[in-house]
Amino acid sequence: MVAVDQKELAALKEAVRTHLSEHRYEHCLRVSDYAVKLAKQNGLDEKQAAVAGLVHDYAKERTAAEFLAKIDEKHLPTSLKKWGNPIWHGVVGAEFVHDELKIDDPAILEAIRLHTTGAGHHDMTTLDKVVFMADYLETGRHFPGVEEARRITDESLNQGVFYQLAHTLSYLAGKEHVIYPKTFDAYNDWAEYLSK
Ligand code: GDP
Ligand code: FE
Ligand code: FE
Repeated sequence: MVAVDQKELAALKEAVRTHLSEHRYEHCLRVSDYAVKLAKQNGLDEKQAAVAGLVHDYAKERTAAEFLAKIDEKHLPTSLKKWGNPIWHGVVGAEFVHDELKIDDPAILEAIRLHTTGAGHHDMTTLDKVVFMADYLETGRHFPGVEEARRITDESLNQGVFYQLAHTLSYLAGKEHVIYPKTFDAYNDWAEYLSK
């Protein structure tokens, strides 16, 4: 991490820590570290990756009432209301990060919005991909296939994104969960883009 920004990062860590349970705070620290590793590999600003990784789940433990109020306050599409925490904590969570942590870098806020579902390849910046993958691959993750996913992502960030989209979709369908349409759209777009 960039030495000169250690103080700012320390203050952000403290703010994130006070809003999350210990296990989720530690996940955020690991995502931040993994995002820095991927940033180095992909020629991306490390500080931006460190901050985005650290705050990506900042709003994860808010109540449904808080998310619903924020959707109204920020005039976000009311269609969001039928979803739940898995979708809200990114899309609506970015608003909490902006309002409470005073982070106004639009690139960081967008990476938070997209960190659960991803997006089509034209709609994901390198930072969006780095945060999306760091969340999936951080060193505390132990799901079957994680080593393969890490190896693929070390070789190609784009292939890593597609791996995650494909596996998350199939995992959700296997559990018969409702799938957010943007997750499907992202998968289809990447499948088309990367098909040989
Ligand atoms: P976390 O916040 O670090 O736990 O990770 P994520 O933000 O990536 O994911 C949060 C949860 O949302 C996980 O349980 C995912 O499996 C789930 N999830 C991802 N995409 C979708 C989707 O399209 N629909 C639903 N219902 N859940 C999803
Ligand atoms: Fe998340
Ligand atoms: Fe996360």
